[in-house]
Amino acid sequence: MQGNFREHAAVLRRLGAEPVEVRLPAQLDGLDGLILPGGESTAITRLMHLYGIDEALRSFEAPIFGTCAGMIILDREHLGLADIRVERNAFGRQVKSFEADIDIGQGDEPVRAVFIRAPWIAEAGPDVDVLAEVDGHPVLARQGRILVAAFHPELTDDTRIHELFLTQVREATSVDSAELEKRAKAPALPAPGAGVSVRA
Ligand code: GLN
Repeated sequence: MQGNFREHAAVLRRLGAEPVEVRLPAQLDGLDGLILPGGESTAITRLMHLYGIDEALRSFEAPIFGTCAGMIILDREHLGLADIRVERNAFGRQVKSFEADIDIGQGDEPVRAVFIRAPWIAEAGPDVDVLAEVDGHPVLARQGRILVAAFHPELTDDTRIHELFLTQVREATSVDSAELEKRAKAPALPAPGAGVSVRA
């Protein structure tokens, strides 16, 4: 949307997705996924309200990935799309920025994560899977189609976190196309459009 669009877009392109910048509600139409980037959550909240993106997101059904301020915006106190309570500037305001190796499980190499005045997840509901923690605080989590990260995966060369999101996007679009195919076979329903492309 704003801020680090360029960095996110570069990673997405490397992974074969077609990124588009979203500033207006109509630009959400037909997207297979959405990244809510970092920045200042109060400013982003105000702008989203001004442009009606907050309202438009209520009917947006594709996967959403919130990074840093984007994670704050998805929480219970903001858009309410993730069942989490996020604490802003949780690592301390004075700790402007730090890097940490985080374990994302599955026996993989740890991910080097860049934290910038980062939040953490203070509380998570039962449907939330915590995927990584720093000092016992969740910093990467998934709840169905929603992925949240307290850090900035677009600022390193490691593409694994974006890959994780694109896997969610591909899962969601293949469910959709399977559903469309089923409908195409049901004579009473109209034929579906062409294939669904991944445009995260
Ligand atoms: N501290 C910012 C906030 O509370 C988030 C920082 C970030 O997105 N890097 O909105």
